[in-house]
Amino acid sequence: MFWNSKKEETAAPESGQAPAAKETRAFKAEIGEMLDLVINSLYSKKEIFLRELVSNASDAIDKAKYLALTDKSIAADNPEWRIDIIADKDKKTLTVSDNGMGMSAADMEQNLGTIASSGTKAFAEALKKDGGKNLPELIGQFGVGFYAAFMVADSVSVVSRKRDGSDAAEWTSTGKGEYSIGPAKKESYGTEITLHLREDQLEYTGQWRIENLIRSYSDFIAYPIRFGEKGEKPKDDAKPLNTMKALWRRSKSEVKPEEYAEFYKHFTHDYDEPAKTIHFSGEGAVEFKALVFIPKKAGMEIYMPQTKRGLSLYVRNVFIGDDFEMLLPEWLRFVKGVVDSSDLPLNVSREMLQDDATIRKIKQAVTGKILSTLEEMASKTPGDYEKFFSEFGRILKEGARSDWENSDRIKKLLLFPSAKSGPGKTISLADYVKAMPSSQNEIYYLAADRIEDARSAPQIEAALKHGCDVLFFTDPVDEWLLESLRDFEGKKLVNAAASDTVFGGIAEREAEKKSIEEAAAELKPFVEAVRERLKDSVKDVKISSRLTDSPCCLVSEPDAISPSMARIMRAMKQEVPEQKRILELNPSHPLVKKLAGLDGAERDDLVELLYGTALVAEGSPVPDAGKFAKQVAALMLK
Ligand code: ADP
Repeated sequence: MFWNSKKEETAAPESGQAPAAKETRAFKAEIGEMLDLVINSLYSKKEIFLRELVSNASDAIDKAKYLALTDKSIAADNPEWRIDIIADKDKKTLTVSDNGMGMSAADMEQNLGTIASSGTKAFAEALKKDGGKNLPELIGQFGVGFYAAFMVADSVSVVSRKRDGSDAAEWTSTGKGEYSIGPAKKESYGTEITLHLREDQLEYTGQWRIENLIRSYSDFIAYPIRFGEKGEKPKDDAKPLNTMKALWRRSKSEVKPEEYAEFYKHFTHDYDEPAKTIHFSGEGAVEFKALVFIPKKAGMEIYMPQTKRGLSLYVRNVFIGDDFEMLLPEWLRFVKGVVDSSDLPLNVSREMLQDDATIRKIKQAVTGKILSTLEEMASKTPGDYEKFFSEFGRILKEGARSDWENSDRIKKLLLFPSAKSGPGKTISLADYVKAMPSSQNEIYYLAADRIEDARSAPQIEAALKHGCDVLFFTDPVDEWLLESLRDFEGKKLVNAAASDTVFGGIAEREAEKKSIEEAAAELKPFVEAVRERLKDSVKDVKISSRLTDSPCCLVSEPDAISPSMARIMRAMKQEVPEQKRILELNPSHPLVKKLAGLDGAERDDLVELLYGTALVAEGSPVPDAGKFAKQVAALMLK
């Protein structure tokens, strides 16, 4: 049902008419190369070609059905929509025919001869690299299913008549370098693809073989697929090979995992299996069935809230349309699937549904079910959940902020790297709170561009000394999330690098305060000298208890924009007010002690260098990097 995506966007050549006589043309280089790879592939499951052709036929019927409703120029003779598979043992051919939208000569040129998709070249490269081991996945991934026919056929002919008044046309090719397009005779609308099977692939003329293939790959196709032998079209009343039973209307125990996976692949054009399949019925107020999938990999929708989203809607098994965005909150735009309800009238329009109470209830139920599935995944299979989160975490953060109805549940699903969780590991807010020492009352976080910077940031030394963990906000959206994530389970989220943040219990703090006051009194002249020297760069200089191993660090006013956020804002061409920060010094560090004992130019140079290291330590750029490097070099020579 994705026929209206990708390729249609590239304009077809102007003329819809077939050339008066047959013309032979060369494939675009990358298609030729790809076909060589497909033809010579040693891939053993060549049978998938049939699934691809049937899927294309089904898409073409979807398209015709849909367009006939909205576009008067499309011939809608209201046929029984059908797909026929016709074998001819004598002629060694297998034909897949549909009465869908059809293709004009220009469409054939566009879809089968030139760049069938911008991904064709990438496909050829991936296939070469892979050596053909994962051919079907690659075929699906790059949307070049049609060419799979060349795995079993040494020549393919496509005869088609489009439902828009174009002349019928024929496309033929042996898959070796060239194809021909010419006029053809075809009475009925639609497409007929004939495969001249290779000698070693004649098994695909056998009814039993075809029946099995259709049952395992294409059972859910919504149109009857019938089989005809000896080159004859199957009779209208022949029993279809597929049950056409919409998966979502079947009971869960009846559906095999492979069937879900096949349906998902057909439905989404994803080459991979879904990460999660959620099949359930609405209970209570609204009767509906839903079959929704969470993909393994995130697509561009993560970054594009305006992207097409939502679920396909059926009413009592009748397809109403794709992308009903009112069935899911915006942040769930990565979820794909189907909702089928008996509680809606058949003649619904999108506009009618916008404010419909039934739709709202379905949306609530589907969203709740997806959330509970994620919650279960997080608690029962944390490894899988982490994988999911690394793909879709960003969109969950968006949900935590934008979906006020569900934000409490979404917040619990968030994961962050932290100082105490090892490399590559993450922690939830609930687990963070659970692990807090009894003296800790707040949740600490540190914003940084990169986890490595955060891990070695001097600003968190004191937190670690007091046994507190620090969450790392390394995703640009994390800080923006803070607007709605002010607290969690009654604990405030606090910037570990803010000037007023103190760590540890009351008694410890008192003792620390006292020793800091003493140190500050002792180092007063030095602090004043540093303040004077760096007056253009920092707002203030203070003695602090924040540091253990590092001589100094920079902290911000509690509500200041963090340096990493400021960089993002600048990158987005937003104005960022200049904010000077506070330089904190570690009174017990030997370097601070040493500098306090110096004076004059020698001290001033080193103070400047010290400030530079504070910037470097948190991953911020040094204003005059060249000068800084020279100073360091000079120091190394001493
Ligand atoms: P995909 O199906 O992933 O788009 P294919 O290589 O299988 O890629 O098909 C290329 C294109 O050729 C399709 O997108 C469609 O436009 C056209 N096509 C293929 N089969 C048919 C058919 N039976 N009827 C109409 N158009 C078809």
